[in-house]
Amino acid sequence: MHPNTPLPDYFSNCTHCGFCLAVCPTYKLTGDENNSPRGRLRLWSEEAAGRLPQDKWTDFYTDECVGCLACETACPAQVPYGELFEHTRHDLVATGRSKPPLALRLAAAAVAQPAWFNLALLPARLLRNLGLSLHRFLFKGRPALLQSTAAYARELMQEHRPTGPRVAFLTGCLMEAAFREINFATVRVLIENNVQVVVPEDQTCCGAFQEHTGLTGAEALRTRNRAAFLPLAVDAVVSNSSGCGYSLGKSLAPDKPVRDVLAFLGELGPVRRDRPGSKARLYVDLPCHLVHGQKAAGIPPNVLDATGYAWELAPSARDCCGSGGVYNIQKPENARAILAGKSAFLNEAEGAPVILGTSNHVCMMQWHSAGATGLVTRPYQVSHIIQLLDPVAGFAVRPKAPASATC
Ligand code: SF4
Ligand code: SF4
Repeated sequence: MHPNTPLPDYFSNCTHCGFCLAVCPTYKLTGDENNSPRGRLRLWSEEAAGRLPQDKWTDFYTDECVGCLACETACPAQVPYGELFEHTRHDLVATGRSKPPLALRLAAAAVAQPAWFNLALLPARLLRNLGLSLHRFLFKGRPALLQSTAAYARELMQEHRPTGPRVAFLTGCLMEAAFREINFATVRVLIENNVQVVVPEDQTCCGAFQEHTGLTGAEALRTRNRAAFLPLAVDAVVSNSSGCGYSLGKSLAPDKPVRDVLAFLGELGPVRRDRPGSKARLYVDLPCHLVHGQKAAGIPPNVLDATGYAWELAPSARDCCGSGGVYNIQKPENARAILAGKSAFLNEAEGAPVILGTSNHVCMMQWHSAGATGLVTRPYQVSHIIQLLDPVAGFAVRPKAPASATC
């Protein structure tokens, strides 16, 4: 939405009941009503009505919001907090009241040009490939240096020729540029499960980066993605990142729903990985944009069973980990404090190894930082759930075509 577009008067929907306070990470951190959904809504509505002058404290408390959307789920009056927040944040940036750091402004420009962004992050892929994950956010992995997910999918499609449902796959900007081994795993898992995978090469960043920072440019990206995805004759558009899937879903609505790839696989009943004798234990964390953005119930249990690991939900699995897209870059102290409470259980968790599994790469970055910054002092592995379903090397397409899963 353009920042100058007037919003309907959603503020008056708020009954001030306070149900949202208990789920808000910044209210739980500070106990400050202004740092809660109800408080922020009140500041914005008072300013919109002209009863409160433009105030640096309104800007401060707006910037403090993680954007986790837990308050939307908790709200009995269905106040569309996320829409109000996105609109306000764009407005503050557009009028100079809030200014994202230069690095984020440069990154926002770069993600709009996937070819350049992929080239710019080649050193990150190289370091990760060499096992030199030097930054606190760079979790372990071996991404291909030059081959794109689109090229890889074409290669595997020709080799295996699956005959089941056909999906278009959103590869994402940061996911493709830095963490494409997860995209490759996604392609393998889908094809093993007899799903035909199409990767539109003219797709671009979903626009979530601009939404998180309040910068302009999201609408141009949405237009490009509508042109890339809407003409395709596919049964579903799938994403392996809940935040990107949520954002692309808004772009393609109402014409084509976007499915989380794990939900899609849950309907098919994925091939199970056997791990006889494994003592590993999988703790599952649910990304905010999956359960509060896409409003999914969670990750399908049959998908988690198919990993072959003993699994359970992590404590506070539906609470924010503090990543918030780029919140852990803009507000690192808050993000670390939120993560500290959420990750403490890992120090005592049973399992050899202990695996923290989730379905959003920015959450994976945040969870990896718990170990890199000393919040968690014992070894643990951070994985995308799709990687735990991955046949990894040689595989055969499941012989029986699964029932068609459609949009
Ligand atoms: S989006 Fe999250 S951090 Fe922001 S007000 Fe709502 S619950 Fe609090
Ligand atoms: S839960 Fe909804 S109605 Fe209640 S205070 Fe929060 S935003 Fe307002």
